[in-house]
Amino acid sequence: MKIGDVAAIIEEFAPLSLQESYDNSGLVVGRADDELRGGVLLAVDVTEAVIDEAVRLGCSMVVTHHPIIFHPLKRLNSASQTERCVEAALKNGIALYACHTNLDSAHGGMSWRVGQMLSLRDMRVLQPQGDDDTGFGVVGELAEPMPTEEFLQIVRRRLGVQVVRHSAIVRDKVVRVAVCTGAGGSLIDDARRSGCDIYVTADLKYNDFFAPAPDFVVADIGHFESEFCAIGILFDILSKKITNFALHRSACTANPVHYCL
Ligand SMILES: [Zn+2]
Repeated sequence: MKIGDVAAIIEEFAPLSLQESYDNSGLVVGRADDELRGGVLLAVDVTEAVIDEAVRLGCSMVVTHHPIIFHPLKRLNSASQTERCVEAALKNGIALYACHTNLDSAHGGMSWRVGQMLSLRDMRVLQPQGDDDTGFGVVGELAEPMPTEEFLQIVRRRLGVQVVRHSAIVRDKVVRVAVCTGAGGSLIDDARRSGCDIYVTADLKYNDFFAPAPDFVVADIGHFESEFCAIGILFDILSKKITNFALHRSACTANPVHYCL
């Protein structure tokens, strides 16, 4: 099996054509026609700890949600974390592959997964991109209305969230829930139009917490927390088709944001 064969399996689920114009998904470091050796390591971000882990596990490919190179690099002299990761990958013959906004937009992708984890029913796309059920975010319903505070506790438990920042609880109970993994501030109007009671997302700004009242509640669960599910999605996609290579979920992928509680 070649690196490109692994990429093809992922792209069958999340075609690169779905990625946003600013994105850099796909094979970022390495060659598609190189043989896969050892196995594939799955993580949220490429970090030096994750590359070290790949070396330890003997994996020649690391698949992440975020692309290691987002802004063009002008030099490779170990000055930044990005440069050091690219250098270490090249030195160790490790291919770096990213499945980013195409995994956000794919049917069954990131927000769908979080929606499933929150037991949403009848999910549809929050901000459709075409007419084939792709786009950013989802909206769906809980089986029955639930007190808002109770729902927030469920979000914390099921998604491993330490802190939820939320706007004023203008709904005693929630039943319709909108979700957008990652930075979802730009979808607040879509959330309003969906008629949701609560919008679960990440990376909200101060003013975003005023915007929803009196119609709904916004909850910011943290960027990493909302996107940790990428590892599970990629594992499920690849484990169905890759049987003769090891697939590892990174034990070193970590939230760069720490909380003092
Ligand atoms: Zn992200």
